[in-house]
Amino acid sequence: MGKHMDIARRDNLEKFKRNEPFDILVIGGGATGCGVALDAASRGLSVALVEKNDFAEGTSGRSTKLLHGGVRYLEMAVKHLDRGQYHLVRDALKERGVLLRLAPHLCHCLPLITPLYKWMEVPYILAGLKLYDLLAGSAGIGNSRLLGRSRALERFPMLHAKGLKAGVLYYDGQFNDARMSVSIALTASQHGATIANHLGVEGLNKENGKITGVLVRNGISGESWDIGARVVINATGPFADSVRRMDDPGSHPMLKASSGTHIVLDKRFAPPDTGLLIPKTEDGRVLFVLPWEGHALVGTTDEPAEVSEHPRPMEEEIDYLIHYICKYFDLQFSRSDIKSAWSGLRPLVSDPGKSDTAKLSRDHVLEESPSGLLTIAGGKWTTYRKMACDTVDHAVKKFNLAQENSCRTDSIPLTGGADFHADGGVQLAEAYEMDPTIAEHLNRAYGDQARSVVEVGEEGFGGTLAEGHPYLEAEVLWAARHEMACRAMDVLARRTPLALLDKAAAASAADRTIDIMAKELNWDSDRCREEKQLVQERLTSAI
Ligand SMILES: Cc1cc2nc3c(=O)[nH]c(=O)nc-3n(C[C@H](O)[C@H](O)[C@H](O)COP(=O)(O)OP(=O)(O)OC[C@H]3O[C@@H](n4cnc5c(N)ncnc54)[C@H](O)[C@@H]3O)c2cc1C
Repeated sequence: MGKHMDIARRDNLEKFKRNEPFDILVIGGGATGCGVALDAASRGLSVALVEKNDFAEGTSGRSTKLLHGGVRYLEMAVKHLDRGQYHLVRDALKERGVLLRLAPHLCHCLPLITPLYKWMEVPYILAGLKLYDLLAGSAGIGNSRLLGRSRALERFPMLHAKGLKAGVLYYDGQFNDARMSVSIALTASQHGATIANHLGVEGLNKENGKITGVLVRNGISGESWDIGARVVINATGPFADSVRRMDDPGSHPMLKASSGTHIVLDKRFAPPDTGLLIPKTEDGRVLFVLPWEGHALVGTTDEPAEVSEHPRPMEEEIDYLIHYICKYFDLQFSRSDIKSAWSGLRPLVSDPGKSDTAKLSRDHVLEESPSGLLTIAGGKWTTYRKMACDTVDHAVKKFNLAQENSCRTDSIPLTGGADFHADGGVQLAEAYEMDPTIAEHLNRAYGDQARSVVEVGEEGFGGTLAEGHPYLEAEVLWAARHEMACRAMDVLARRTPLALLDKAAAASAADRTIDIMAKELNWDSDRCREEKQLVQERLTSAI
C-alpha cells in the first residue's frame, strides 16, 4: 500500500457497474458512513460506499469541530442521574483520546476557558469540570483548574472584564471535521473499499421482501444503475428517514432535525490558542467561541428544523449568537464582522413525547427493518468509530458475513497521520523556503503527505487561492487528483474550509479553482459555467 494512492472515481464507478455484489454497501459519506466503510473493509469484507453529494457535505462538515464528551451532557447525566448520558460522555472522552492518536495532523488539544461572573458559580463549574477530567481517566488530556480574574483575562483578553470573578480552564479536542471525513474515506479505500461521492441512492432493490442492493444515480452525469449488496447500511444522518421510506413508505419517522448555526468572525474575537465556553445561555444552552483556522468560530444554536441539503442559517439564529458576543465581549461588533455563516442539522433520535430538541438524546440508534435495511443514526462526530464498530458487529452477526478479524480501527492511523510530526511545518518552511503559516497549515491538513502537496505546487501552482488565507492552488490539484474532489465547491468548502471561513475570499478564489480543476478533469466550457453557477448559488444562499 503506497503512502498515498490515487483514488480514481471513474475506476470506482466502473467497478460499481460490474454489479458484483458487495458484502456491505454503505449509503452516506459523512462521519458515520465513512467510519462504517473503514471498519468493515479493515475486517476483510468487500465494501461499497456511495455519497449523494460530497463527503462531509452533510452535518459532518458543519459541526463545531470539537472532539468532546460534552460538558452539558455530563451536567444532564448528573442532574437527572441518567446512566445513558453518563456512558455517552465517558465513551466520547475515550474516543477523543483515540482520534488524537489516529489523526494527530487533523486533531489537537484545545484549552478552553469558562468565564464566571458570580462567585456561587465557581464551585459548581469547577467540580463539574473536575468530574469531566475524572471520567476521561487515562485518556485525559489536561487538568481543569481555577484561574483568577487577571489570569482569565490574560488567556482571553477580549472577555467582558467588568464583574468577571474568575475562570475555569479545561481541555478538549478540536479537529478538522471535513478533512477527517475525507481522510476516513481514503483510509477505507486503502483497505479495499470502493467509494464514490456524487453518487446517490434513489431506490432499494428487493427479492422476496429482502434487500439485495440499491439503485444509484451519478449526480454529475445523470446516469443510473444498480449495485448489489448482501447488507445495505443507511448512514445518511438527518436523511435517514428518507432512505427508510424507500424501504417502507409507511415507516414512522425516527429522527427529528435540529439546526445548529455558526458564524465566523475575524481573529480579533478569539486568541489563537484558547477557546471560550459560555456554560449557560439565557435558554440554558452552551455556546462556544473558538479559534479556528486563524478566525473565530461562534456557535451554536439548537432549533427544530426541516431537513434540507443546504440548510440556511436563520436571521434569528445569527441574532442570538451576536447577542452573546456583545454580552460577553468588550469589543465593538457590527454585522459586517461576520465573514461567513452556515448551518448544520443534528440528526436527533426522536421521542414524540418531547418537543424541545435540546433535550433529545445525542446517543445513536441502530435499527434493522424486516427487509434487512440497517439504519445507524444519531450520536456524535466524536463517537463515529464506536458507532461504526457496533453497526458492523451487528451486520456480521445477523447476516453471517465472513470477517477475517474483528474491529481493529483503534490501531489504523488515518491517511496522513502515520508519519506526522508536530514540527513538520517548521521543517517544510525551511526545506522549501515557504511562508511558515502556509507550511504549518499544510502540515496540519495533510500530515505526512504535506511534502507531496508542495511538490504538486512546483508544477506552477505554488500561489495562494485567496489573499490573507494559506490555502494553495496546489491543494486544488491535489484534491482533484487524490481526494476525489469533483466539483469546485468540494474544494472551496471541504478540502479547504475557505467558504465556511470567508465567503468573499471563496468567491474570489472560484475562477482559479475552476480553471485548475477544468484542466485536471477535462471539463468543457459548459461544465465550467455550471460550476461557476453552483459556486455562486452556494455562496449567496446557503453553503
Ligand atoms: C451544528 C452542529 C454541531 C455539532 N458539533 C459537534 C461537535 O463539535 N462534536 C461532535 O462530536 N459532534 C458534533 N455534532 C454532531 C455530528 O456532527 C454528527 O453527529 C455527525 O456529523 C453525523 O454524521 P453522519 O455521517 O451520521 O451524518 P451526515 O454527516 O449528515 O452524513 C450523511 C450523508 O448521507 C448523504 N446522503 C443522504 N441521502 C443519501 C442518499 N440517498 N444516497 C447517498 N447519500 C445520501 C448526505 O449527503 C450526507 O453526506 C454537531 C452537529 C451539529 C448539527
